[in-house]
Amino acid sequence: MFKLSDRIEKLPPYLFAEIDRLKQEVKQKGIEIIDLGIGDPDIPTPKQIIEAAQKALENPANHQYPSYEGSFEFREAVALWYKDRFGVDLDPGSECLALIGSKEGIAHLPFAFVDKGDYTLVPDPGYPVYSTATMFAGGVVHKMPLLKENGFVPDLDVIDKSILNKTKIMFINYPNNPTSAIATKDFYNRVVELALKYGFLVASDNAYSEIYYDNYKPMSFLEIDGAKEVAIELHSFSKTFNMTGWRIGFAVGNKEGIYGLGKIKTNVDSGVFTALQQAGIYALNNYKVLNEPIRKIFQERKDQMSLALKKANFDFEEPLATFYFWVKVPDGYNSKDFAKKLLEEKGIVVTPGVGFGEYGEGYFRISITNPNIQKAVDAIKSL
Ligand SMILES: *Cc1c(COP(=O)(O)O)cnc(C)c1O
Repeated sequence: MFKLSDRIEKLPPYLFAEIDRLKQEVKQKGIEIIDLGIGDPDIPTPKQIIEAAQKALENPANHQYPSYEGSFEFREAVALWYKDRFGVDLDPGSECLALIGSKEGIAHLPFAFVDKGDYTLVPDPGYPVYSTATMFAGGVVHKMPLLKENGFVPDLDVIDKSILNKTKIMFINYPNNPTSAIATKDFYNRVVELALKYGFLVASDNAYSEIYYDNYKPMSFLEIDGAKEVAIELHSFSKTFNMTGWRIGFAVGNKEGIYGLGKIKTNVDSGVFTALQQAGIYALNNYKVLNEPIRKIFQERKDQMSLALKKANFDFEEPLATFYFWVKVPDGYNSKDFAKKLLEEKGIVVTPGVGFGEYGEGYFRISITNPNIQKAVDAIKSL
């Protein structure tokens, strides 16, 4: 009876729906499923954070509407964490904003800066929300291919001037989902230059800044000279503290960027539950103690996965951050057929690269949010 809006009708087909359906079928056949498909940590939230939330829940003052932008204490904790972790100074009053998860911030950002016909620059393969949010706001997506020969970083020199002139937001995401690539300071410098020249906002999605390995430690885009003139950065408690279900994150950086996003949010949601903000403050104030054991688990799994994939002769770069492996599909398959066959015959769920955009074709993504690593690789190899 009700016709869906054009913006919904225009959405690309949701590839993961097909995977979910297949997963059910395979399960019903009695095949054991090992899910390496989702970017959702299997490890529980640290119990100290749960206790901080429990305590905050008991306080009736926290049961009322939260402040739209996040409590001052929350934004102060964010600023202190930024200073400690990245050496970046932030004003809690004008440069920090609480989010209901970073996805929420990404999804609302184009509404603040994109008018009909304006462009956003979006990595392909990439987190799908950058594109859908642009479309919802009436904007036009210009894809920036992430290619192996460029280290899965966009080639800024090939973006047409006419597009740059109409660009309002550039999304970047390092450490990267799905490729696990990292950005160099040189690349970040060139992004700042370009954004200053063409006057667009950079949205740096730094959801994986605290999931890193070996001797590598990701930086903040805001560490770059001039970055605060052009950029906001989005962070999340989801990956750092195994809190995907809690829905809390934050945006920081350029005042106008934060103001615009906050303005949209004021008209759409009513902020993050204050008790969760208090748990968030606890997490940030104790981040080293809380995050280290999490990273240690992923480090072990990362090493184990690397070894297993190398032994099985798969073609991939060893990740220095994120919990993803971006692996070449074996000859003779496209990414969708390979993922389908792997699921149907072996019960292994991986994500076909094409699910993240056309330039993801030829790859599949493995997530180490599952402890059954050797078993999974043996099964993949035996296909
Ligand atoms: C997981 C993820 C997010 C967001 O997560 P939230 O739970 O909404 O904070 C954002 N960007 C990327 C690239 C992600 O993988």
